[in-house]
Amino acid sequence: MSDVYLNGRFMPMAQAQVPVMDRGFIFGDGVYEVIPVYHRIPLALGRHLDRLARSLAGVRIANPLSRADWEALVGELIAREAAPDQSIYLHITRGVAPRDHAFPQDTTPTVFAMAKPMAPPPAPWLTDGIKAVTHEDFRWLKCDLKTTALLANILLRQLAVDAGATECLLIRDGYLTEGAASNVLVVVDGILLAPPRNHLLLPGITYDLVLEIAARHGIPFEERPVTEAELRRASEIMMTSSTREIVPITMLDGQPVGNGRPGPVSQKLLSLYQEQKRP
Ligand code: PMP
Repeated sequence: MSDVYLNGRFMPMAQAQVPVMDRGFIFGDGVYEVIPVYHRIPLALGRHLDRLARSLAGVRIANPLSRADWEALVGELIAREAAPDQSIYLHITRGVAPRDHAFPQDTTPTVFAMAKPMAPPPAPWLTDGIKAVTHEDFRWLKCDLKTTALLANILLRQLAVDAGATECLLIRDGYLTEGAASNVLVVVDGILLAPPRNHLLLPGITYDLVLEIAARHGIPFEERPVTEAELRRASEIMMTSSTREIVPITMLDGQPVGNGRPGPVSQKLLSLYQEQKRP
């Protein structure tokens, strides 16, 4: 494991320590970002840094680094990690302060960052697809912010694991929002449907890239609300995320999706997505 970054310095992971009064530890008061790197080149770095800036603004933490400094930090993390394909993790908390819900005055944010090797999804995920379950989306109403307070997402993901599945698809008021740690796209009547970007889901960078690929290659798509009924009659369901790319979901709540095999739209999108990763 390459050295990690904490508050301006690189050091071995074991030496990277944060005081227990850090509001990240006490309250989960922070935001984060995950950036995929292929052949040592970050994919869509600008979009990830834009989203990080939006998340920071959304929770009212002043951005601790300039854009140039973020870019330099990401470059340094990449250079220090041996594996050419990596994921970069950036994490900012409101900092260390006596425990009180209200914001502390004049506290310096804690900045932590690390790189780690990134492996492609397990081969059977792509050849056979994965299982997913559904659950009511019991998260809050600011799901567009990438906050470190992920307890609801953790509980929901664990429900999937408990059921022998990989992802939990979330339903709020009869509509699909996203997965516990992914965006979800479906194919209904031959059209790729993407739940609209709003406060109920994270605006995924992979989701954006996939819809741009669809637009460029004439794959019909609509960004619009997806009902639970549409989710259940979809011919294809796929989850997207920076580290997992595009993974077909072939079983939903124990029922096959379509014919139970990865479908043509997800396969086409996945192969087109690979082209973006070339250096
Ligand atoms: N939604 C949630 C809740 C996530 O945690 C993630 C990332 N793991 C995504 C969507 C996908 O976002 P991205 O494509 O930017 O990784």
